[in-house]
Amino acid sequence: MESHQKHQWTKDDVRTAMRRNEFVPFFQPKIDLATGISSCVEMLARWDHPELGILPPSQFIKLIESAGLIDEFTDNLFRQSLVSAANNAMTGKDIGIAINFSSLTLQDPQAPRRICSLLNEYGFPFDQITIEVTESATPENFSSVIKSLTTLRSQGFKISIDDFGTGYSSLKLLSKMPFTELKIDRMFVAGISENKKLTGILESIVHLAEKLNLNTVAEGIETKAQLDFIRKLGCNVGQGFYLGSPARGFEVMNVTEDARLAMA
Ligand code: C2E
Ligand code: MG
Ligand code: MG
Ligand code: MG
Repeated sequence: MESHQKHQWTKDDVRTAMRRNEFVPFFQPKIDLATGISSCVEMLARWDHPELGILPPSQFIKLIESAGLIDEFTDNLFRQSLVSAANNAMTGKDIGIAINFSSLTLQDPQAPRRICSLLNEYGFPFDQITIEVTESATPENFSSVIKSLTTLRSQGFKISIDDFGTGYSSLKLLSKMPFTELKIDRMFVAGISENKKLTGILESIVHLAEKLNLNTVAEGIETKAQLDFIRKLGCNVGQGFYLGSPARGFEVMNVTEDARLAMA
């Protein structure tokens, strides 16, 4: 499925796909590593292509951004996610939703107002939404992104720094941004027991996050050994194929049987 790298999509392709509502939300659980329970799902966008099937964001997010469609795109997937949340009677409104936001959206001073009014339309509480933003916010829009995130935080939103450790100016960001959560990039998790340096950095990031009173999320947990290590380290939350893969419905929230047994 992830092998259609040859495709050179154009802006027109993504415009058409948008008009045809081919972009759909998948959800992956964020699992509380103390309880094994999912407190939140991360929405991960997919292109449900009529001929090629499900395509990952690496094939379309950049194009959507350069076509000037990212705000409309994010709004649309956000709405679909809120509808899924509302339709899921079992889940009700107790489950949080994490949304990945482009810095292009967050640099707009109107962004917080637009996000709040969208949630108000659905009566969804702000404090159950996590805004995930990667470190790659460019220097030019840096301060306007901080302003939006600070406003959103003051409205109760949780703010997560995604792919931590892979961008620039991580430590500067940590001191300036109103983060509530730090997501450790899966590169460090993949290095567990294979790469001493990466493992050392991973341990230090968890300690750093503790000092700063941030929730820690480890991305990309694929094995029992990684899960055991991450839990021993004191990471609060885990995500990865071993715990639960992204899937179409909200019912994916339950942790896999293997991981449940590993945490029992
Ligand atoms: P991310 O936010 O860091 O999301 C985690 C990525 O890791 C997802 O890739 C997920 O499917 C994948 N993943 C989860 N568990 C594992 C694992 O155990 N092993 C491995 N190897 N991978 C795992 P995906 O869905 O392809 O998304 C890639 C990136 O695209 C996301 O990274 C996020 O930055 C971006 N993205 C996704 N949806 C949206 C969206 O709606 N808006 C924006 N602006 N960006 C999005
Ligand atoms: Mg993310
Ligand atoms: Mg990430
Ligand atoms: Mg990542």
